[in-house]
Amino acid sequence: MTIETIYETIKSKGKRLSKARKAIIEILFQSPCLLSTSDIIIKLKARKIQPNRSTMYRELLFLAKNNIITKETIAEKDYFELPTDHHHHLVCTGCNTIKKVVIGRHLQKEEKQLEKDNEFVITNHSIEFFGLCRNCRKV
Ligand SMILES: [Zn+2]
Ligand SMILES: [Zn+2]
Ligand SMILES: [Zn+2]
Repeated sequence: MTIETIYETIKSKGKRLSKARKAIIEILFQSPCLLSTSDIIIKLKARKIQPNRSTMYRELLFLAKNNIITKETIAEKDYFELPTDHHHHLVCTGCNTIKKVVIGRHLQKEEKQLEKDNEFVITNHSIEFFGLCRNCRKV
């Protein structure tokens, strides 16, 4: 998926492509995994965009609600990423480190069954694995 495809999706939903919105997409596009609201604000500032924190948070929620970006809440903190490359996360409950992981076999079979059993159409899923990283297990 290219960044233009994402811009097109936003426009096709009848949404404006403001400067800040475009910058957020670019920042998330360049990041391989989750970014916190603060991470995004720091990166926006580096691009000479001075966003108001609550405006920015509302913007991120808006993009998540429209399925343009994904929102994950880990240890009561919100993180965002683009759903461009499907992956999952290992979350250390000791130090809150998040590691990107790819599961070899997808859950397609299980999803098909869930859809059938519940008369439900699944469009996406997000899975986090919680545990302790090597450093946190040493204590
Ligand atoms: Zn990720
Ligand atoms: Zn840890
Ligand atoms: Zn998956």
